[in-house]
Amino acid sequence: MLTDCPACKKKISDKADICNHCGFAVKAEDAEALLRKQKMDKYQRHQSLQTQSFIAVLLFLAGFGMMYWGTPEVGSTQHSIAILVCVLGFIWYLINRVRILLTKRNKFFG
Ligand SMILES: [Zn+2]
Repeated sequence: MLTDCPACKKKISDKADICNHCGFAVKAEDAEALLRKQKMDKYQRHQSLQTQSFIAVLLFLAGFGMMYWGTPEVGSTQHSIAILVCVLGFIWYLINRVRILLTKRNKFFG
């Protein structure tokens, strides 16, 4: 398969390590760009997980507040929804913590 050399834009084989027209190290450039992209992806994933953890905490607090706001009866709709929101927020928070730990471990070993 043919690809464009990033330096001289001529057609070269995608199997070639260097461009046979200008001698540009195609593969080295690829590897570097790929590594940068992977680091960026990992960073963005981590940021997104932290945002989700934050929303999960807000959800948990909202549910907690709802449970006591106006002191609803146990078994009433408001009380049931409040517990549900609390539990969902808590579980979502835990899932995000685990996922953050996993991305950190990947960074450590990778
Ligand atoms: Zn070239």
